[in-house]
Amino acid sequence: MKLTTSLNRSLWVFHFNSGSCNGCDIEIVATLTPRYDPERFGVKLVGSPRHADVLLVTGPVTNQMADRLRLVYAQMPGPKLVMVVGTCGQSGGVFSTSYNLAGPIDQIIPVDVYVPGCAPRPEAIIQGVVTAIAKLERLQGGGEA
Ligand code: SF4
Repeated sequence: MKLTTSLNRSLWVFHFNSGSCNGCDIEIVATLTPRYDPERFGVKLVGSPRHADVLLVTGPVTNQMADRLRLVYAQMPGPKLVMVVGTCGQSGGVFSTSYNLAGPIDQIIPVDVYVPGCAPRPEAIIQGVVTAIAKLERLQGGGEA
């Protein structure tokens, strides 16, 4: 994959917390700071799933959040990707034996990219975004990855 080819369009991301401890969410905020500055490549958070290419989900999906997660996913236009940040979203993590879980995330909606870790560092999240861009290009039929 040529990075310059992959990053020549904006990638808009909607962040959804499905019941995380906020650790992953803080790392996402850290990723958006001027130190890493993904917005220079057009990667930015948006306030509505209707504008998003990527749904970035943290947390293990509590029973209360499952229907909301389905609704947010349904509101996104295609082609769309789901990127899971953190071990909780992948397997339930430290919450996996909780009585209140409907997840992990792939039990609720399809997942395209996993960023494992508790919590993943910004470098890992950026790597996940690059993977998401490559997959989105394949879905759009314009990529070479
Ligand atoms: S993976 Fe770790 S940091 Fe992220 S929500 Fe779960 S417990 Fe918190």
